[in-house]
Amino acid sequence: MGEFDLIRRCFSFHAGAAPGVLRSVGDDCAVLEAGPLAVSTDTLVAGVHFPPEAPAEWIAERAVRVCTSDLAAMAAEPLAATLALSLTPEAFEQGWAERFAGGLRPALERAGLRLVGGDTTRGSVSITLTVMGRCEKPVSRDGARPGHRIGVTGALGGARAALVRPDLSRSREHPFNRRYWQPPFRLEFARRLAGRVSAMLDISDGLLADLGHILAASRVGATLDGSKIPMQDNLPASQALEWALTGGDDYELCFTCPPAQMADIEALACELDVPVTWIGDIVAGQGLHVTGFDLASMDIKGFEHFG
Ligand code: ADP
Ligand code: MG
Repeated sequence: MGEFDLIRRCFSFHAGAAPGVLRSVGDDCAVLEAGPLAVSTDTLVAGVHFPPEAPAEWIAERAVRVCTSDLAAMAAEPLAATLALSLTPEAFEQGWAERFAGGLRPALERAGLRLVGGDTTRGSVSITLTVMGRCEKPVSRDGARPGHRIGVTGALGGARAALVRPDLSRSREHPFNRRYWQPPFRLEFARRLAGRVSAMLDISDGLLADLGHILAASRVGATLDGSKIPMQDNLPASQALEWALTGGDDYELCFTCPPAQMADIEALACELDVPVTWIGDIVAGQGLHVTGFDLASMDIKGFEHFG
């Protein structure tokens, strides 16, 4: 089977036009019709970003969820995606792309994304997914001000637990595996936060590292209450807080808002069944402090201790 046959069989499921999509797979370019467009790309390389032996369906679904999380963090509404796929000849022969496509399509459709183009080549296995979404009111990282509260969705640390003790023989429904392989879609909640929150991002590198980006962009500091950090159930007690603070890959949202917005945000969280926890406050000056936790003892990936 050749490349074109593969594209036709595996990646042409959204080849037709759709609202906002004038041309899709099969032409030289896709043509989109949209106002302000948020665009984000993620590359996942076998052996670096996912275990090569993991089921291709799982890898596809995780790629879509991870990439879509950036759209959520900007309060964008998903529209379209492109996929650059590189496959070894063995993967090509062994039906990897078919299995990958089997996980890709439902995940894209759940996210509200149409696959409008891409590229298919031979090489080591890697996946580059670009997602695009309408974004009338982008939420950036630089609007946090002293006195604003800091909120976080969901529970943290579970994806780290899945990575520390990888166990692909366990079902994907195992809570730790689920956190890593099926990070949550927070799209609608995030969209409806636009106008209410002052800064937002998704937690890919760990709460402290990512909150650090908000602090740097907004030129403020923060104090977190170590007893309020939402932790995944059943983490090993001695590591729970550390993993919740520093473990990446949870793809929950972290945001800041003026206190006057808290009640509305809580009502929205309740309506959409999204757990939200208030974990601390933005303060003037620099530095990040966590009560009940010694940050100085930590070597945190991507986190600069400047307090
Ligand atoms: P070109 O030679 O114009 O770059 P290609 O032969 O690479 O076109 O691809 C043919 C069509 O299939 C294009 O519309 C392209 O966007 C689409 N395509 C190729 N690979 C993929 C893929 N992995 N997923 C989705 N669409 C793809
Ligand atoms: Mg091409």
